[in-house]
Amino acid sequence: RFVYILSCRIFLIQRMTTFKDLKLIDAIQSALEAQGYEKPTPIQEQAIPHVLLGKDLLGCAQTGTGKTAAFAIPILQQLATGEVTRGKKQIRTLILTPTRELATQIEDNFKEYGRNLDLRSAVIFGGVNQNNQIKRLQSGIDILVATPGRLLDLINQKYINLSHIEIFVLDEADRMLDMGFIHDVKKLLTILPKKRQTLFFSATMPDSILSLANSILTNPVKVEVTPASTTAATIQQSVYIIDKNNKNLLLLDDLKKDIDDSVLVFTRTKHGADKIVRFLEKNDVKAAAIHGNKSQNARQRALDNFKSKEIKVLVATD
Ligand code: AMP
Repeated sequence: RFVYILSCRIFLIQRMTTFKDLKLIDAIQSALEAQGYEKPTPIQEQAIPHVLLGKDLLGCAQTGTGKTAAFAIPILQQLATGEVTRGKKQIRTLILTPTRELATQIEDNFKEYGRNLDLRSAVIFGGVNQNNQIKRLQSGIDILVATPGRLLDLINQKYINLSHIEIFVLDEADRMLDMGFIHDVKKLLTILPKKRQTLFFSATMPDSILSLANSILTNPVKVEVTPASTTAATIQQSVYIIDKNNKNLLLLDDLKKDIDDSVLVFTRTKHGADKIVRFLEKNDVKAAAIHGNKSQNARQRALDNFKSKEIKVLVATD
């Protein structure tokens, strides 16, 4: 009698959530594939099913966690699969965000994830001429991404009607308060329809933010993702103790070591940012500054040139 002993390896397969598990429609799934997204991030995994069910959401998440897609994907799906209204498109979703750059990024994401859908979006913010924004609004849109000042301005001028809003997103609520937008936000809340779904995101949840959240959310689902580490693991950190007078020379020296990298430099003041740019340019390093004293067009140009590697160094205030 022979006894065969079969040795077998047992593979423990840990099932990972996929976008398919989240019951996303094919049109969105293929758009995410085209973006190179393979699986949902933790905030997406936790938030998307609730948002799809129409629940209010209180999300504690920072930029970088994938929070934009966590609200953009289920919003697109709700708009795409919900009732279709005939006639001119009405604004059904409003995303309020504190900065102009964030507003642009969020609308870009809506366009990317919604590339296979028949939905239209617009972004409005201050610092640029309003005419193009008005034209876009008048052509009929489903999704509006806005910063508070320009939004109220265009509402007052009667270019925007918020009475058809079904979903409202308040993004980066803590920054919104820090930047002094609380009165604008409260004013907007009086204009929005009472019956709506509200998604509220903030990186931090101090009492002031929680009480604002409580005042505008109804039985919200709470979702929290704390970043695994506060900095990306791929970033090597160093500290230099150095005299103020030598800081620029050290920076130049460091920049010349990694000649192909894109570099972000943060300064405390706008004036300081401009000074560093002048110094770098004088030393043949292509640089641009981005801060609140720059026109919006200059800010956008600096970002575009940084992305396309036209300039190597972007010097910014916070
Ligand atoms: P956010 O936190 O929304 O600023 O997103 C941070 C970055 O993560 C953006 O560049 C997104 O395009 C990207 N991102 C979001 N979700 C995913 C995902 N599921 N897979 C890969 N990248 C993602």
